This record gives sequence, C-alpha cells and structure tokens, in this order.
Amino acid sequence: MRTDTRPINSQHWRYTVRPFVAHRASLRCEHCFQFLGLCGQVDHIVPRSEIGMLGISVFDPSNLQYLCISCHSAKSNRERAAGREKKPPKGHNRSHVPGRDKFLDAIGLTPAPERN
Ligand SMILES: [Zn+2]
Repeated sequence: MRTDTRPINSQHWRYTVRPFVAHRASLRCEHCFQFLGLCGQVDHIVPRSEIGMLGISVFDPSNLQYLCISCHSAKSNRERAAGREKKPPKGHNRSHVPGRDKFLDAIGLTPAPERN
C-alpha cells in the first residue's frame, strides 16, 4: 500500500484544518520542535491510505500533526519501507544457497545431516 502524498485540494483543508493544526503546534514541528511558521507540512498520523477503512476523516485533527519537511519525509520513508516489509522478497528462504553447508562447517556450525 502506497502513502498518498498528493496535496489535499480543498478550501476547508487550506483555510481551516491546516492553520488549526499549525497553530495547535505553536507553529513548530511536533517532532523536532523547529520553528516553521506557516511553512510546515500537515501529516496524517494514520496514513491516508489506511484512514478510509478505519473510518477516519481526512480532516480529523486528532489524526493530524505538524511536521517540518525532513521529519515528514523521514516518516513517509518509514511508512513506505513498512509497506514493503509486509511482502517478504522472493527467495528469502536461503537454506538451498550453494556452499551453505561448507560455510556453516567453516564457522564451526554443524550443517544439516546428509540426506542418503
Ligand atoms: Zn522536524
């Protein structure tokens, strides 16, 4: 599931919700407390890709936080990484990798008993 990063194109968001969240945070990043004025970014704590199925409004201020660009992009990157982790990559079971038994022997671990 992808984090939706498109801007919310709505008067309500721009003139009511966004300034409310900014002022509630005293115009500072809620993560690193850097002063942002009105130039910060409003982030959805529960990502927008998940609020629909949880019945949370995109404008719900209890799900919003005010962040600087670097804290916001760090959070978005973590969310993208978490989304990827849900699907283990192909071939994550490496027990069949060639030379595995020789390697285990070399580091002093006993390889699985030989199949006859
Ligand atoms: Zn920050």
